[in-house]
Amino acid sequence: MSVLNQKTVKEVIKIDGVGLHNGKKVHMEIKPAEPNTGILFKRTDIKKDNCVIPGVFNVKSTLLCTTISNNYGISISTIEHLMGALYGTGIDNALIEIDNDEVPILDGSAKIFVDEINKVGTKISELPIKIIKIEKKIFLKDGTKSISIEPSKINLDIDFEIKYENSLIGTQRNIVKVYEDDLTQIYNSRTFCLYEDVEKLKKMNLAKGGSLENAVVVQDQKVLNKEGLRNNKEFVNHKILDCMGDLYLSGYKIIGKLICSQGGHKLTNQLLRKIFSDNSNFTIIEVKEKNIPNLYINRNILKSIA
Ligand SMILES: [Zn+2]
Repeated sequence: MSVLNQKTVKEVIKIDGVGLHNGKKVHMEIKPAEPNTGILFKRTDIKKDNCVIPGVFNVKSTLLCTTISNNYGISISTIEHLMGALYGTGIDNALIEIDNDEVPILDGSAKIFVDEINKVGTKISELPIKIIKIEKKIFLKDGTKSISIEPSKINLDIDFEIKYENSLIGTQRNIVKVYEDDLTQIYNSRTFCLYEDVEKLKKMNLAKGGSLENAVVVQDQKVLNKEGLRNNKEFVNHKILDCMGDLYLSGYKIIGKLICSQGGHKLTNQLLRKIFSDNSNFTIIEVKEKNIPNLYINRNILKSIA
């Protein structure tokens, strides 16, 4: 059985939690799905027109989280950490059933999603995975924020940088090779905010479920969470997790080299829209082992594509 074939979860995964922004209780189940299904969300609290595809053009809002919506206005928010976990663990097909409009925030990272997926394991199908290979450099700028993607040989590299005035967060940069590196620190890194922004968010009717249980809160030179940080690049690592999750809204794994400075959900979505606006920007390939040059046949390199 090829490691490059499409995979799904072996068993149903059940997760309970609260939404970060709506503060409501939510029950979610990640279910096995047939090859070529992709990732599909289904709102079980709604009887009709309740399926939402996490696709590039279904992104309705990128204000603090990624919200997708179908043609009937049925939406699901804060999908990015779950999508990042599915991307990194190589889940190509899954049905996500959810009884509310926001994915549970859990500990603010992708740790629990990844642990649960690893616990049940994966089921490998007979069909090869499909990958988007970036063919041209695409660059976007929004004020001081920028993002670009360019062709690479076999990997998805994410080179991310954040620059905060708050000096505890400050400037952080990390580069990961998504299909080669150990992503544990990326998965474990939690969402974060500045203490002075908490009140603003609550006034905007956001972060109603937010607490020190599910977000790192920074006040001046101090992390307010008793346990401190989980790793010394937790802030930028979390942004890389968000970026992976948002990229998975392309519906495929990606081969390219992405460089982002101070971006986020909005810029990543704009980049994907730009990629898909011109067919010559990319090719979609089915990865069969015979298509891979000898140089890359080392399965370890491909562990996470697979
Ligand atoms: Zn996030």
